[in-house]
Amino acid sequence: MIPQTPLAQKLREVQSRIAAAAIAARRSPSEVTLVAVTKTAVPEQIREILALGIVDLGESRVQQLVQRSAQLTEYLQRRVVHAADSAPSPRPRWHMIGHLQRNKVKALLPSVQVIHGVDSLRLAEELETQSQRAGKRQAVMLQLNAGEEPQKFGVAVGAAVHLGEQIASMPHLALVGLMTMAPLDAGAGAGGDKSRRVFARTREVFEEMRWHKIGGPSFKHLSMGMSHDFELAIAEGATMVRIGTALFGGEPHHEEQLADEG
Ligand SMILES: *Cc1c(COP(=O)(O)O)cnc(C)c1O
Repeated sequence: MIPQTPLAQKLREVQSRIAAAAIAARRSPSEVTLVAVTKTAVPEQIREILALGIVDLGESRVQQLVQRSAQLTEYLQRRVVHAADSAPSPRPRWHMIGHLQRNKVKALLPSVQVIHGVDSLRLAEELETQSQRAGKRQAVMLQLNAGEEPQKFGVAVGAAVHLGEQIASMPHLALVGLMTMAPLDAGAGAGGDKSRRVFARTREVFEEMRWHKIGGPSFKHLSMGMSHDFELAIAEGATMVRIGTALFGGEPHHEEQLADEG
């Protein structure tokens, strides 16, 4: 047997927990995509997890996503040239999962496949303008603030359907789903009741939007669940879980969400 690296082992653990949570919810594990959040990873780990078959990679800051995407692309190109004997790594898909400022949209677009945190009309309009200029149709998700406390980011539940309609009508954007974060203090404690309510509420809004056919058939993703609460999220219908520390260790970088203000 080939000895497993620590990362390969953690990945297997996370994947089997995802599968178990899906099965417990009478869902197919294949419905849940793992987005490996590389905030705390070193470049070698990013290459390794890609080689292990995880193509969906997430970053919460524009500059880091752009840099890491460029590094990885360069590495993969060098490999194609110099190591024709080894199996080619699949192409990565980069997800911008953090709060996005309008003045960074242009720099982000060439490197990103999915943008999770769209939460205002002004941001969506900037994305539409820049996507048109870049000649691309950008996949985006609407970030919902489904918590009970005021949270910094995300559109309020009552405004989500309308904003979703507006985004879905923009020709250079594809609205592919909803994203949410449980309140940072909710954890999985007390049975994770608070987190679970946030995920359930998000799924209700998701179903309402699907009922209205907003976004059409490409509107099919629920991006929710992180290292400490992804099983609850899967129980409530998550199709994308964003997992960092359970794979790469390190301190959870929640502060970044709050620090990236302005
Ligand atoms: C950092 C981050 C994650 C991953 O969090 P972990 O607790 O490390 O799994 C998920 N989503 C967002 C928006 C993040 O910023």
